[in-house]
This record gives sequence, structure tokens and C-alpha cells, in this order.
Amino acid sequence: MSVTVVGSLNEDVVVTVDRLPGRGETVIGSAVAVLPGGKGANQAAAAGRLGTGVHMVGRVGADPAAGRQLAALADARVNVGRVQRTEGTPTGTATIPVEADGGENLIVVVPGANAELTPADVDVESVHRAGVLLLQLETPLDTVRAAAAATRGTVVLNPAPSQPLPADLLARVDVLVPNEHELRQLADAPAGELSPAELAELARGLGARSTVVTLGARGALVVPADGPAHVQGPPPVRPVDTTGAGDCFCGALSSALDRGETLADAVRYAVTAAALSTTGAGARGALPDDDEVQALLA
Ligand code: ATP
Repeated sequence: MSVTVVGSLNEDVVVTVDRLPGRGETVIGSAVAVLPGGKGANQAAAAGRLGTGVHMVGRVGADPAAGRQLAALADARVNVGRVQRTEGTPTGTATIPVEADGGENLIVVVPGANAELTPADVDVESVHRAGVLLLQLETPLDTVRAAAAATRGTVVLNPAPSQPLPADLLARVDVLVPNEHELRQLADAPAGELSPAELAELARGLGARSTVVTLGARGALVVPADGPAHVQGPPPVRPVDTTGAGDCFCGALSSALDRGETLADAVRYAVTAAALSTTGAGARGALPDDDEVQALLA
């Protein structure tokens, strides 16, 4: 089988500053890095690096950034035959000033060609026949909905960036993968600390079959369709940069589900892969291969 990702491709322009500018203020940056990004492409790259067959469905512009994004995905062994170039619209861009001491950042996303991905674009064989269809919310909601309706595979939805979801889409989702913030927003939960049991109760009310809530350094909460919820902790690692850990998690989870692993085993695999991804800089800087994950699982 294989994993098909329907989602975004962005160019990330990361600018290092001592301090984020205030409104109307100019500050001088000390470095700029142009990196491949976009939640869809990051998740596809994670699954590709793990050795899974991956097809990417998306849109880029007809500009130099598009070539860089496609090359980066191909380098991660992702099939990009269904990524279309869109005349007259730029490749999606995220501009990210980040404080040098690893503190605060700001993110401005221009969706560009990602916003042009239509339901007709996802009426393709790689979506129909996917073992796992992996979706996020950086492309139009109607397109995400159409993809989920068109596939015979397992539907994994990472509801990021967070937005209200229609019941018909949630009913098609086999595994919903929010972080805690996204879960709270989807469930309209009040502020305040919640126990894993309380988070599981919120998750069960959403309408997806199963839910996996990512909990950062605490690992992930597995809320299966039937049976009790449990927390899967991460292996001991020394995190350097957690950017993109959530994307690595989703790609790895989809890889393991595509191989036929149970949800609990797939989450154990994803927690391990995501932990390894935090040991290097950048969203795609330390994506592990399958051997590295298996070595840590053994
Ligand atoms: P991001 O948006 O930064 O990619 P996220 O908010 O979507 O992240 P998180 O819950 O922060 O998602 O992290 C996803 C997964 O990555 C976690 O479930 C966990 O398995 C792993 N992870 C994140 N931070 C750490 C850490 N400090 N140590 C070990 N594993 C981590």
C-alpha cells in the first residue's frame, strides 16, 4: 500500500533577530534561511524518509520556489507527480522572524498556490487507492472534504491550523491527530488544566473514530474507537529543536498504519520518530529513517 498526502507546500523564510519588532518598528536580522516547509509537505517528507511509498497531491506556483520545494520532496523519496504548477500564483510562503535565543517567533503565511487546490485536483488514483490518506487544514476545506470522501483508505486528519470542522468530514476520519490546543478548540473546552482522562472524554465527543492527542514532551494520548485511552510516553532524547515534531509524528503514524500496525503500535512508532526529529534543528533537519526508529524501539 502507500500513503497519499493531500496538503500544503510552503517555502519557509526564517529570519533570525535579537528581538521581534514591535508594530511599525524595523529591526536588523542576523541571518536568513530559506527552507522547505508546509505541513503537508513536511508530513510527506517524514513518511518518505521512513521508507514508505508516498504520493503528494498539492499545488505550487510556476516560480523558482516551486522547483526548490519539489526537489526537497523528491530528495525525501516522495512521489511529486501529482503536485501541479499554477500559473500566476506564487508558491506558498511562510515568513518567520525568530529570536536568536530560541525564544519567541512570529509566522506570516501567504497560502499562494495552496489556496488553489480544488476538489477536482484530488479526484485522482493516488487518493482513491491510498492505503492511508493523510490530511491537514492548510488547503481549502472543501478539498480536504472531497479527498476524505473519495478514498477507500484509512483517513488520518491533523486538524491544523485549527478551525471548526463539519460533521460529515469528522465522520470520515479514522484517526484525528490534534495537539492539545487544537483539541480544546475543536471541543470548545474551557481554559484550565485537564487530565488525560478529561482530554480523552473531549476527544470522544468529536465524532472521529479514534483520536491521538499529541502532548509535546509528554508523548501522545491514544483514544481508540473502543477500549480505554492511554498515554504513550516518548523515549529519552535530548531535544534541540521541536519545530515540526508534530508533522514528523503524523507522517510516522501514517507510515505505521499503512504497514498494518495497530493504533497503539503505530503511536509508539510515531512517538519514537518524533522524539528523534527533535534532536536536530529545523522542521526537516533531523527526520529519522526506519532503522533509527527501530533501534530505539528495540
Ligand atoms: P509542532 O507544531 O511544533 O510541530 P505540535 O504542537 O503539533 O508541534 P507536539 O505535541 O508539540 O505537536 O509534538 C508532537 C510529538 O512530538 C509529541 O507527541 C511527541 O511525540 C514529540 N515531541 C515533541 N516535543 C518533544 C520533546 N521535547 N521530547 C520528546 N518528544 C517530543
